[in-house]
Amino acid sequence: MGRCGIRVVACGSDPGVQERIIEPRRFFRVSFSPMKLEMLPAEKSPWYADGLQFTCTQCGNCCTGGPGFVWMSEREIERLAEHLKLTTEQVIERYCRTVFGRISLTERRNAQGEHDCIFLKEERTESHEGDQTVTHTRRSCTIYPVRPLQCRTWPFWDSNLSSPDIWNHAAERCHGMNRGRVFARENMEALRDAKDWPENPPTSGK
Ligand code: SF4
Ligand code: SF4
Repeated sequence: MGRCGIRVVACGSDPGVQERIIEPRRFFRVSFSPMKLEMLPAEKSPWYADGLQFTCTQCGNCCTGGPGFVWMSEREIERLAEHLKLTTEQVIERYCRTVFGRISLTERRNAQGEHDCIFLKEERTESHEGDQTVTHTRRSCTIYPVRPLQCRTWPFWDSNLSSPDIWNHAAERCHGMNRGRVFARENMEALRDAKDWPENPPTSGK
């Protein structure tokens, strides 16, 4: 990806290549022959075998930045339509676009020229500290209960789990990585391999 984030970022090539790639699971294999039992060696433990930390801080960095894609399955469009009390046609017309034959959420440019996901909301509040007025910015997802798989499984994507360097590079922009809740290897791999909404996705506590 061009940068870290829930949205798969466009880098000028086919976005299909950049979406989360689900690798076939590799198993400890036992092969039987009439003459002998041949044991093939187990796969080496992955670098994240002892677990990784992640707790979303709601910074919203993953929902904005350069142009990107948030892929939607048919089922997710239906869930979103139900949530918004719209028809699926209305959801597609108002919030989606077709990219290389697939459906992605649309984006809008913010005042800084960044590409916000159409469902990202920014709220500014002020507090007083002595004589000073401090402005706080909070960004949130307005469809959080029905956010798509891509958003639910971040940051446990195949790409991020492929090496510590890639994980730590993503963590430079996603401040929730490497802090907070510890995810065990099996949790992370279940999220990485999920084809539909996982039962216990990482949450931002919203
Ligand atoms: S759907 Fe929500 S969580 Fe996903 S990119 Fe858009 S605003 Fe962010
Ligand atoms: S902490 Fe990470 S996952 Fe949470 S909003 Fe920020 S960039 Fe997104």
